[in-house]
Amino acid sequence: MSNYKIRSVETIIIDLPLHRIQKFAAVGARTTAVVLIRITTEDGLEGIGECCTPSGPWWAGESVESIKLMIDDHITPQIVGEDVFNIRGIVRKVDRVLFGNAFAKAGVEMAFLDLQGKIANIPVCNILGGKQRSSLQCSWPLATGLAEAEIEEAESQIASGRFNLFKLKMGFLDPEQDVARACTVARSLEGKAKVRADPNESWDEATCKWAIPKMENAGIDMIEQPVARWNFDGTARITERSNSAIMMDESVCTVQDMLRIAQLHACDLVSLKIMKSAGLWNSRRIADIALSSGISIYMGTFLECSIGTAAGMQLAATLESLPYGGELSGPCLIAEDIAVRPARYENFELQLEDGVGLAVEVDEDKVSALRRDRNYTVHAASG
Ligand SMILES: [Mg+2]
Repeated sequence: MSNYKIRSVETIIIDLPLHRIQKFAAVGARTTAVVLIRITTEDGLEGIGECCTPSGPWWAGESVESIKLMIDDHITPQIVGEDVFNIRGIVRKVDRVLFGNAFAKAGVEMAFLDLQGKIANIPVCNILGGKQRSSLQCSWPLATGLAEAEIEEAESQIASGRFNLFKLKMGFLDPEQDVARACTVARSLEGKAKVRADPNESWDEATCKWAIPKMENAGIDMIEQPVARWNFDGTARITERSNSAIMMDESVCTVQDMLRIAQLHACDLVSLKIMKSAGLWNSRRIADIALSSGISIYMGTFLECSIGTAAGMQLAATLESLPYGGELSGPCLIAEDIAVRPARYENFELQLEDGVGLAVEVDEDKVSALRRDRNYTVHAASG
């Protein structure tokens, strides 16, 4: 009789350099960090998960340091001894003792799903509804703020065959300058690629009134989270006025957020992210509510490495309709990865790998080289 009870949970902070600076409205980053999670059963089977923030706690209030602490001190004691297939019971148990901390919970759930898939000998997409697609067109972030350099970067991505969708990160320049930059980039890529924009909540409604029509004229076809995350009514008004698609991201973290957005029909499109919604199952629920209310879905990211990206692709594989694609591009932005076979981008699409669980394997040498506590040693059990 197999024993699928959880014996141990390990969390490791890993620092990853980026190929270039990545600017967000709030911060500019040259490195990112992830938490690798390993969950082991009494039988010695292992599931892996990743927690990733967009280079710090500005997005959700969680950092890799807080994530590690919350998992080690508050989540692990709740799950050791539990059955790996009892996800709903485990989530309820953890939620009773730990409010919020969606990113930490998401990485743990990811490891559970990896483990379930490995035990059942099926990919995670088969647990979540079955494979509806085997690849996903993803956007590449343009986030340096320098239009000429961004055009060059986009051209080289198109030439590489990996990306022909682009998302301009906005909000770190003043709006006049930022909109001029966005229009320059979009006009020069016209006919070659689609360009979207994400001000990450940095505008007000008055700015949207002049900025969005200008960007639409330049060919930008989707604008993400232009105003503050709490401003559902404002976003509904912006959506009503705009010809381009308006997407909510920061505004939709929980199932309850999605219900409210659906009632208001506050946007055209919502970004799904495993981290912000505490896992793949909640993301799946949000997708179902969105689709049931006529709102389209998009596969978002926090620029995870190949572990979290594999989880994103497993979820995306279950979603038959992603009219604007997604943005699972983290593995191409980080200069070092911790997967044996990093995510594959071919014919402008991220490919779903064959395999069980998340269908991704950790490169132990890379983990040893990049882990933050590099003087960590594994002690062999005595006797
Ligand atoms: Mg966003």
